[in-house]
Amino acid sequence: MRDLLKALDALESEATAALGGADEAALESLRVRFLGRRGALTSILRGLPELPPESRPVVGQRANAVKAAIEGALEARRAALTAAARVGLAADRLDITLPGRPPMLGGLHPLTATLQDILEIFAHLGFAVAEGPEVELDYYNFEALNIPKDHPARDMQDTFYISDEVLLRTHTSPVQVRVMEAQPPPVRVVVPGKVYRRDADVTHSPMFHQVEGLLVDEGVTFADLKGTLTAFVRLFFGEATRLRFRPSFFPFTEPSAEVDISCVICRGAGCRVCSESGWLEILGSGMVDPEVFRFVGYDSERFTGFAFGMGVERIAMLRYGIDDIRLFFENDLRFLEQFHAA
Ligand SMILES: [Zn+2]
Repeated sequence: MRDLLKALDALESEATAALGGADEAALESLRVRFLGRRGALTSILRGLPELPPESRPVVGQRANAVKAAIEGALEARRAALTAAARVGLAADRLDITLPGRPPMLGGLHPLTATLQDILEIFAHLGFAVAEGPEVELDYYNFEALNIPKDHPARDMQDTFYISDEVLLRTHTSPVQVRVMEAQPPPVRVVVPGKVYRRDADVTHSPMFHQVEGLLVDEGVTFADLKGTLTAFVRLFFGEATRLRFRPSFFPFTEPSAEVDISCVICRGAGCRVCSESGWLEILGSGMVDPEVFRFVGYDSERFTGFAFGMGVERIAMLRYGIDDIRLFFENDLRFLEQFHAA
């Protein structure tokens, strides 16, 4: 009997010591080792039947006490580990209800968006995109567009000269000449790009953007010009927009017309933007002057064509209600971010 009691004492102290330092993963294997069906306690109690009957209850009671002590130590350790884990969790706590940090998204510049929309409409109308150099020869910028050296129209567009014969183009029209030099009719192109003039105030910038259009073929008439521009204006500004063609003068078109649209702000009633007239001038246009065809070697008896040009900044200012052209070029994020959804 004494041996069994000693063995039980030894088991109790070994078990409580082992459990006191155990981690979560070791707890279950210790339980099996001490209390399992083939564990240490069971193997000690296997000696019970060999004891005299009167000793058995003493050993049995002691065995129950040891079992309870080990279970208690097991439970205490499990509780301690759980509590420690909770403290750790609280420290690393994630509040999943906090809103995330949205990634910063870029957006198209309002001029880029406007230019893309203009080009897309003309693409649907069958126009291809053509481009040309911003540093241009006097010949293409003026001479071949029927603006000779002493022509007063040269004063209309104060020019940045690089040398006597080289300049920053004052309009996208020289690309018309370059396209016609490079291919025979029919021609149907739109020409986007930067142009330069010595001019700066709230509605003028020394660098701005134009879109030019040119269509040349047999039998092209002023009615085709009106139809094309009417389709463009209605697609861009809305079906209800009205157009007005006013006689005008450009050296490279004859006849020429400036195109007004009904004011997009007041719908024609008269406001500050349209100077109370109800109309806004948005582009210049006309039938290509036969003199220009002579420069590029087209037969003006057989072919006719029309051309038009508009300022992208002006169109964007009307579209978004912007009253100072300089805002486009200051790169102030507070201004630019307003167009991201557009
Ligand atoms: Zn108005």
